Amino acid sequence: MFIDSAKIYIKAGDGGDGCVSFHREKYVAAGGPDGGDGGKGGDIVFQADDNISSLINFQYKRKYIAERGKDGGSRNWTGKDGQDLIIKVARGTVVRETSSGRILADISGDEPVVICRGGKGGRGNARFATSTRQVPRFAKPGFRGDEYEVTLELKLIADVGLVGFPNVGKSTLISVVSAAKPKIANYHFTTLTPVLGVVKLDDEASFVMADIPGLIEGASEGVGLGHEFLRHVERCRLILHIVDVSGIEGRDPIEDFDAINRELESFSEELAQAEQIVAANKCDLATDEQIMRFRDYVTEQGFECYEISAASTLGTKELVKAVYERISKLPPVKKFEANPLTKEELNDKLVSKKDFTVTIEDGIYFVEAPWLWDVLRSCNMDDYSSLQYFQRVLRSSGIIDKLEKMGIKEGDTVNIFDFEFDYVE
Ligand code: GDP
Ligand code: MG
Repeated sequence: MFIDSAKIYIKAGDGGDGCVSFHREKYVAAGGPDGGDGGKGGDIVFQADDNISSLINFQYKRKYIAERGKDGGSRNWTGKDGQDLIIKVARGTVVRETSSGRILADISGDEPVVICRGGKGGRGNARFATSTRQVPRFAKPGFRGDEYEVTLELKLIADVGLVGFPNVGKSTLISVVSAAKPKIANYHFTTLTPVLGVVKLDDEASFVMADIPGLIEGASEGVGLGHEFLRHVERCRLILHIVDVSGIEGRDPIEDFDAINRELESFSEELAQAEQIVAANKCDLATDEQIMRFRDYVTEQGFECYEISAASTLGTKELVKAVYERISKLPPVKKFEANPLTKEELNDKLVSKKDFTVTIEDGIYFVEAPWLWDVLRSCNMDDYSSLQYFQRVLRSSGIIDKLEKMGIKEGDTVNIFDFEFDYVE
């Protein structure tokens, strides 16, 4: 079975906790605080791997959690950062947030992409020493790593996508023009997984061809196999439409040709508009009249038509050359852009889980809330409107109320993730 979509859970490592410790040495009294910071949690990183051609691995393992940062230690020892977890996927895998459907990344380049950031390490007590607070008996826990439920969807990266009815000779063609060796058999639906082949014209010129399982009529309405596979053609630069011009299976090549084009059209506007070259295959079995009739019909509609016999490689060189020339003039393979949330959307989303805790330590009000970290991170505290937004969040989430209930007074210090400010009524 070819698996080209999967749902998984990914979570970056949490940060390690900060440490509470005081310097101790024989014969030295009451040393200062020396608790170190926790390490950062590992990131979740996606990377394309050309040895992987489907998303089948995600059938078996659905949870991916990166390593936690180590806790800080005494003597200002900073905890070790957690290791990044690298998830290898087939090139062309699009990562979406499951709940909203928005695209987080398109893993089609060579660069690794960080999808979840590891949590920052908590600060050790050494960080909290000031001239007025010489014995801080507290440290901070590490921050949570980002987490997501994501849907992976493979959208193959190929310059040319082969489409056509089953048994018209698609697999045969790719096997004679590239090193790919798909299964070829004289029955329908032999190709269940897309096959990619590199077609080399010479040392410099080459392109990637994808053999996509046979389309059948009604495929775009979800009848049969075709529909799922149409999305693999979506980002091909050119469609190579193969038709059995001999009609050996009892169908009319012109009807075949129209039926497939209707399928593409009803799948998406984009596919309907895509560049297309037509190859009339099995010319060795066809009569001259059959070939002429088909060629006239196709060229009248403005398509280039090549007569080939894939099985005997007749005309395939000319076809490959024409395909190469055409795609050289076309834009590169389409890449899907990530749609990040706007700052406000991100914040609202995070603020909706409003849990927080407030603790008083040495007269300082410590507010802890994982979601608040993202709000804080996105705010520029030197900017007035940002600061106002931040205050609104503190009020709407009930944090201000809580502080007041706990007896905060004008001039007291509030600490939120080490951002300290004086409370003003
Ligand atoms: P696909 O389903 O479109 O991938 O078709 P295949 O490549 O598996 O071919 C289906 C059948 O048609 C196989 O038996 C091939 O040997 C045969 N075939 C493919 N191309 C030609 C051709 O040019 N001439 C003839 N006579 N048979 C062909
Ligand atoms: Mg095939």
